[in-house]
Amino acid sequence: MRRLPGVLIVEDEPAIAELISVNLKHSGFRPIWAMDSATAQAELDAVLPDVILLDWMLPGESGLTLAKRWRAHPRSKDVPIIMLTARNDEVDRVAGLDAGADDYIAKPFSTKELLARIRAVLRRRAPEQDAGVVTLGELSLDASTYRVTFKDQALKLGPTEFKLLHYLMTYPERVHGRSQLLDRVWGDHVFIEERTVDVHVKRLREALGAQAGLMVETVRGAGYRLTAG
Ligand code: CA
Repeated sequence: MRRLPGVLIVEDEPAIAELISVNLKHSGFRPIWAMDSATAQAELDAVLPDVILLDWMLPGESGLTLAKRWRAHPRSKDVPIIMLTARNDEVDRVAGLDAGADDYIAKPFSTKELLARIRAVLRRRAPEQDAGVVTLGELSLDASTYRVTFKDQALKLGPTEFKLLHYLMTYPERVHGRSQLLDRVWGDHVFIEERTVDVHVKRLREALGAQAGLMVETVRGAGYRLTAG
């Protein structure tokens, strides 16, 4: 039998936890509810979940504190975290993402949106688990060490540019449309505009430098292609 993905719900309000739990079960997930930080830690120590839904405001330790700790711990550092919160101003959003959250969803949220976000973080995480080196021409990317080199010179890429390059290097010489890239690299194109792709392609070219940057081609009216030249 296929193993159902486990979702740890860290939420002190039973009504919300119950609502999420029922919806997750109906959608093929295995929800585990923890109503406080101590229970959450015990659940995490027992079985590592596939995704954590983490409420910001909890009795005792805050969700933010938990996110930071779990990100810092080798065992839990790769488990995607989606912060749930009633707060939604820019500062808090940044604080949540800085603490290591992968995504952020403001209460009240629709369960449909929540499910979409969960599926998105699972898809986004998946390619990184294919550890290994991919090369194209003199460009080389090591997914296990997060290193990119061109002509043996190390390049510095942001996380999104890294994922984008990883995807393009996995499928080189093909034209990828913007919506396709959003779906495969960002994992969820419902919430991000297509011009976001252009911004990150521009950043990727800059990070690759004058020579390797030319490997990323714009195909007019179609999208982008990575080519060995
Ligand atoms: Ca709460």
